[in-house]
Amino acid sequence: ADSSPSPMIRPINRSVVHRICSGQVILDLSSAIKELVENSLDAGATSIEINLRDYGEEHFQVIDNGCGISPTNFKVLALKHHTSKLEDFTDLQSLTTFGFRGEALSSLCALGTLTVETRTKNETVATLLTFDHSGLLVAEKKTARQIGTTVTVRNLFSNLPVRSKEFKRNIRKEYGKLVSLLNAYALIAKGVRFVCSNTAGKNPKSVVLNTQGRGSLKDNIITVFGMNTFTSLQAVSICISDDCRVEGFLSKPGQGTGRNLADRQYFFINGRPVDMPKVSKLVNELYKDTSSRKYPVAILDFIVPGGACDLNVTPDKRKVFFSDESSVMGSLREGLNEIYSSSNASYIVNRFE
Ligand code: ADP
Ligand code: MG
Repeated sequence: ADSSPSPMIRPINRSVVHRICSGQVILDLSSAIKELVENSLDAGATSIEINLRDYGEEHFQVIDNGCGISPTNFKVLALKHHTSKLEDFTDLQSLTTFGFRGEALSSLCALGTLTVETRTKNETVATLLTFDHSGLLVAEKKTARQIGTTVTVRNLFSNLPVRSKEFKRNIRKEYGKLVSLLNAYALIAKGVRFVCSNTAGKNPKSVVLNTQGRGSLKDNIITVFGMNTFTSLQAVSICISDDCRVEGFLSKPGQGTGRNLADRQYFFINGRPVDMPKVSKLVNELYKDTSSRKYPVAILDFIVPGGACDLNVTPDKRKVFFSDESSVMGSLREGLNEIYSSSNASYIVNRFE
């Protein structure tokens, strides 16, 4: 028999727990910036600027012209599970905000160094706030700023050795992923201007994304991908069930791209960018039958009632469960088949004009 003593069960040190959990909210550079951009959108911003220093390794910041943060919230701003967006569990069914878990700022504190500069319309000056790794406010200083918020994160992952190494090793790839993520928000957000730039070493600042923030999906597609891509697309509207439909744009038959480019397929649920590998697979599979070895550009928004899907599957909120996935996929398959089997003109609706 094994004679080793039964080990003691002890609680994990709180700051270690915080770091462990934060690593699930903030997976990489793009998930960090995704959280900040979503906060800016939740704050009603019409201009969002993302600046990176050395591809985000040294620091990154998100500057918005949203409502700002009121001084009464400064102390609790970066505390775990503190949010202005969700009060009750049932609110999850009727979410109108991107955020709801109150974890992003607290996680960024755990994994890097967070400062926030903010001003609401009720203040004449802005305040620069500095937080420690546990999310406590440690310094407050008056500054000058327009109404809105700037969040800066320095040295992300410096205290997660493996993640930090991975981040530095894949820095260019991470950057590409970020740009395609920002494309998703630039496509779906109506009337929001996005600018993203990076300053690497002694090089001048390079702007990778600069959109005007138009009023429709169509106009956003034109600003993000250009007129040539837009004219290769058809507008689609697929009925999934009584209260659920899919709207957006797909490549016309034979006009897809040669390779499966991840930065040409975007999926949304009620305007929220999400990962939908199964939908992507289906779209590709059916499209392939119409035009050999070509992949479609796909920009599809699932318009569903609140209770029909669960967004709270993973801490980064990118994964979704549909309450009736097999019927959603079945109806989508039928709809796509109909679009691609004929050059069915009835799907080429001009409702996005
Ligand atoms: P969540 O978005 O889930 O509420 P976060 O940790 O991302 O959690 O943000 C915490 C709170 O800080 C938000 O609920 C919001 O009140 C405030 N906040 C964060 N970023 C901004 C911003 N850019 N503008 C205004 N308020 C913000
Ligand atoms: Mg948030």
